[in-house]
Amino acid sequence: MHVMEARGVRKTYEADGAPVRALRGIDVTMDDTEFVAVMGPSGCGKSTLLNLVAGLDTPTEGEIIVAGESLAEKDENALARMRRAHIGIVFQFFNLLEGMSVLENVTLPAVIAGARRRQAESRARDLLDMLGLADKQAAAPGVLSGGQRQRLAIARALANKPTLLLADEPTGALDSDGGLEVLELFRRLHAGGQAIL
Ligand code: ADP
Repeated sequence: MHVMEARGVRKTYEADGAPVRALRGIDVTMDDTEFVAVMGPSGCGKSTLLNLVAGLDTPTEGEIIVAGESLAEKDENALARMRRAHIGIVFQFFNLLEGMSVLENVTLPAVIAGARRRQAESRARDLLDMLGLADKQAAAPGVLSGGQRQRLAIARALANKPTLLLADEPTGALDSDGGLEVLELFRRLHAGGQAIL
């Protein structure tokens, strides 16, 4: 199955009255078995592509299809539902909820998606276990190392069993050990059947 397709996607921003052509006709097809890395220098449009696939922004031209559904006709609510059902996102700077425990950070997405709290917590515990954070459940995210914070962010992104895990420079804020740890984890998730972009 195709988890994602981009057809003729263009994205033009406006900056100081001048057009910025971030994407100039992208065609990609991604299978549910794939782990795809988009590489290129800063400013070449990587974040723009991920934002469009996540439905956080809309293309100027062309179409994005996620899990067989075009994002083109969807309003904000439908896009939010699509994200809850199909997309997990990991950011460079983690975006964790600092006022909540590690366990709560991973439990919350499933609760928001309508799961029972006990089930959401049980899945969160399994994920934290799998990612080597079982003994940090009660901790605040702030006490974790960079690598641990990113693993927590990954656990949270996996809470709703996403069809597609999106990661925007997930190793960018980590030292080389932390970066390798995260890449190794992605390889493991991919071996377990997770599609990753
Ligand atoms: P990357 O992730 O590869 O570093 P981006 O997708 O962030 O690249 O940016 C692609 C281009 O679009 C850059 O020239 C950037 O300055 C521009 N850009 C990104 N977001 C905006 C925005 N909101 N408004 C104007 N220009 C933007």
